[in-house]
Amino acid sequence: MEILVKENNYKIDIEYKEDKKLRDYLLKNEEAKFLVITDENVFNLYEKRLKKIMNGLNYFIYKFPAGEKSKSMENYININKFLLENNFNRGDLIVAFGGGVVGDISGFVASTYLRGIDFISVPTTLLSMIDSSVGGKNGINFMNLKNQIGSFYFPKYVHIDYSFLESLDERNINNGLAEIFKYSVLKDKDFFDYLKSSKDLDYEKVIYKSLNIKLEFVKDDERDKGKRQKLNLGHTIGHGIESLSNYKLNHGESIGIGTIYMARASYKLGLAKDNFYKDLISAYENHKLPTHYDFDTEEILEILKHDKKIKNNLINVIIPVKIGEVINKKMDFNELRKLIELGKDDE
Ligand code: NAD
Repeated sequence: MEILVKENNYKIDIEYKEDKKLRDYLLKNEEAKFLVITDENVFNLYEKRLKKIMNGLNYFIYKFPAGEKSKSMENYININKFLLENNFNRGDLIVAFGGGVVGDISGFVASTYLRGIDFISVPTTLLSMIDSSVGGKNGINFMNLKNQIGSFYFPKYVHIDYSFLESLDERNINNGLAEIFKYSVLKDKDFFDYLKSSKDLDYEKVIYKSLNIKLEFVKDDERDKGKRQKLNLGHTIGHGIESLSNYKLNHGESIGIGTIYMARASYKLGLAKDNFYKDLISAYENHKLPTHYDFDTEEILEILKHDKKIKNNLINVIIPVKIGEVINKKMDFNELRKLIELGKDDE
């Protein structure tokens, strides 16, 4: 399957064990040098496959330790040094081969080296396939702040091959799955029903649907000023939960719980006409996603006070009113406190 992102002029292919298509794309730039950026896990798993894809091309591989810590200024500088030392110029290309960490730092390097060189994204985690590889956001963490430095910059081509998911562990699958559920709650009740009732997901369909929903929200609002913010459903409480759990719950799991709490609060406030939050809980349980986390509301509020999205003491919260529809509400911390309390599981 393919998706054309006309606004930003790139193509996304969704394939299964289709390395030839990627290779054919790279061969179109036969004269260029390539820097494949990856992490050590992905490299160890896919070294042979990667080298076969790149065979005959003029390429280098740059790998770093897996994990969020590698989204650092130091790593950014080292990759730039490597590019410079190997005489990369404007006609050369970067290939991001890995999960969201690889994608975020590679895109940022590509956007700034020589004021921007082309890059191709080959996401290998479910989260990066359905989220970080499209939408144009890149970045690194700085002074302990996530994505504090970055850019909006789009790849030339995104090659998604969901056969890479076969080596991904359950936690990382869940991380992506919770974001997929989020897309369905934002926009598509049929998609939600499909996710809820299917044990073995058809990844081609799921990735295609997810990306189309994300792209619809990103379209005309790349810089996150309006409708793109709806993609933050579940994130307000979710960020707090992720941090309070000391990252025992991952990002996806935390925003999944955040979405349930918002849906429950929405019902209790009368914004939602029915108690669809119960559907959410049973759907998440079907896929072994967590649905509950005990926390102290004041502790969450303390964490949220440092959220970079707060303006004039108001925080923008996304509230689902039914499956397939959400609303935006700006509120102060007293209102947010009430909302969080209402969202708690008191049955
Ligand atoms: P990740 O890149 O750290 O990958 C998770 C783990 O899976 C790593 O240990 C990695 O080595 C391993 N891995 C990758 N592919 C594998 C495979 N095929 N088989 C086995 N193991 C594999 O994390 P992630 O969850 O992919 O992405 C998280 C990052 O993405 C965060 O830094 C987050 O800020 C960022 N993000 C960015 C955007 C955006 O729009 N730019 C959106 C969402 C998330």
